[in-house]
Amino acid sequence: MKLLEEKIKTDGVALNEHILKVDSFINHQIDPMLMQEMANEIAAHFKGRGITKIATIESSGIAPALMVSLALGVPLLILKKQPSKILNQDLYQTVVTSFTKETNYELTLSKKYISQNDHVLIVDDFLANGEAATAAIRLIRMSYATIAGLGILIEKSFQPGREKLEAQGIEVYALARIGNMGENFISFI
Ligand code: 5GP
Repeated sequence: MKLLEEKIKTDGVALNEHILKVDSFINHQIDPMLMQEMANEIAAHFKGRGITKIATIESSGIAPALMVSLALGVPLLILKKQPSKILNQDLYQTVVTSFTKETNYELTLSKKYISQNDHVLIVDDFLANGEAATAAIRLIRMSYATIAGLGILIEKSFQPGREKLEAQGIEVYALARIGNMGENFISFI
């Protein structure tokens, strides 16, 4: 998506070869018009596929995912993070390794809001190593719901997330795909 690529070029900050800060329009301050255009593009791509719910991981996935859910007219499920494992029989639970924080956390989903009749589109801001998305898929599949695919704003294609997900048969649709980056440059695929 040209608009997003331009915005990343002007307002994104590559902290190093691995981490891109997009705090001024996605993660901290949100540009609502851009967010809506991005969400509409993801919704248009997955439209007509029988999607019953959108799922995202708190917290930076919530804004794009909410707008995709609005565009497709289906509810949004927020997969919640918990610092440590407290067993709860009302929740599906799984462990995730966080790329940015270099820690483990527990991801949870209430059994109340998902069933085997659901067909779920996962939406997130970034795809890097694919750990968050893989955990989300694991969690959703515990309910025997099916996965429609993964809609991503920014994919860092030099990291192995897409490969990992495609190897599991998951379709990945990303609006901007970064081939490589460094302190003063960002190049797209
Ligand atoms: P993964 O599990 O694919 O390695 O990482 C996905 C999650 O880590 C995303 O939900 C996002 O919140 C965070 N993340 C990964 N890479 C970046 C990055 O370069 N910049 C920012 N702001 N977040 C990132």
